[in-house]
Amino acid sequence: MSGEDTLTVDTVVIGAGVIGLATARALALQGQQVLVLERAGHFGEGISSRNSEVIHAGIYYPDRSLKATMCVRGREMLYRYCRERNIPHHKCGKWIVAVTPDQVQELERIRQQARRNGVALDWADRFALARALPEVTAAAALFSPETGILDSHQLMLALLADLESAGGQLVCLAPVLSAASDQSGHTLSIGGAAPCGLRASRVVNAAGLEAVPLARRWQGFPLEQCPTPFYARGVYFSYSGRHPFQQLVYPVPQPGGLGIHLTLDLAGQLRFGPDVEWIEHPDFRVDERRARAFAEAVRQWWPALEPARLQPAYAGVRPKLVGPGAPAGDFMIQDAASHGVPGLVHLFGIESPGLTASLAIAEEVADRLV
Ligand SMILES: Cc1cc2nc3c(=O)[nH]c(=O)nc-3n(C[C@H](O)[C@H](O)[C@H](O)COP(=O)(O)OP(=O)(O)OC[C@H]3O[C@@H](n4cnc5c(N)ncnc54)[C@H](O)[C@@H]3O)c2cc1C
Repeated sequence: MSGEDTLTVDTVVIGAGVIGLATARALALQGQQVLVLERAGHFGEGISSRNSEVIHAGIYYPDRSLKATMCVRGREMLYRYCRERNIPHHKCGKWIVAVTPDQVQELERIRQQARRNGVALDWADRFALARALPEVTAAAALFSPETGILDSHQLMLALLADLESAGGQLVCLAPVLSAASDQSGHTLSIGGAAPCGLRASRVVNAAGLEAVPLARRWQGFPLEQCPTPFYARGVYFSYSGRHPFQQLVYPVPQPGGLGIHLTLDLAGQLRFGPDVEWIEHPDFRVDERRARAFAEAVRQWWPALEPARLQPAYAGVRPKLVGPGAPAGDFMIQDAASHGVPGLVHLFGIESPGLTASLAIAEEVADRLV
């Protein structure tokens, strides 16, 4: 950085979630001088630490969507990166279970979509399923061998270490209050303990749930290019004590999410979630009364679940670009080709599978900002 009143830097990334850190790392590895501005006191306190920590295979997303292509590519990159950097992960596999005849038909549709996305799934009829998962009651299932779990905090730590080794820097407690762009660059107004102005040639808005609201107060950015934000909260309940599962178990997807599923952390602790609740503004409170609906949903395929062992855990909020009832939206990566402002990329609607896709999204943004 240089200058006195207004600092100048090559490239600023707004937001130190997994997307901002991965993108900043990719840009720094290209040789750019990169500064990450984070409003919280620590990296990864947003939705990057409030999710299922699942490495998705890329099963459900529509043909040629960004979600499909970036999930499949990002998954391969992520497994490689986890191996290279010793990030705890486990390719445990996942079941998608169908209880009703309609759900069995839905499994066939899911299998065809996965095949078009380049993802192979194995079909299990009632008998094969009973051998593999005797405690689950279902009519049929698909098995995804490529699905896994990881430690998302360790992933973000590794990304930050790479960024810093390449000369980049993370500044916390540095909220971007507003921004203005012209043909020669971008000026950011930063609040917090040390308010200042910052001038940058390139800016990436990776502010997660705040990405759209921030873009709306961005001078020089065409307002009509801002999508309407929607928010869907998903809560998790952990399940105390012993259980028989070693692989993830999902129902067929429900509108707005993948359905209340069973995930494991790397220590084998079991948790259920997330559900889908449309809310006006991001809010991470967990309503313990939702445990009842969780128990009902899960008992459809695991009758032995003991409701008293469900403990409220945490909530995440999905940054959505379509509202209730609409078909699932795609990631939106807006660059100069779409909005006409050089050196500016907005990342909107980076919900699931954003964690899996993070390295692929970062590579895409770095290519677009060259
Ligand atoms: C319930 C749920 C479950 C999910 N499960 C999975 C899963 O299993 N697998 C998967 O692949 N994906 C999953 N996802 C998606 C994944 O978690 C997200 O796509 C990913 O974490 C998005 O990261 P991010 O960096 O965009 O957002 P965040 O992690 O929210 O980071 C944005 C950062 O920007 C900061 N910020 C905001 N405004 C400003 C500002 N004005 N100035 C400075 N900083 C600012 C915030 O403090 C925050 O740290 C899930 C998401 C949800 C909600």
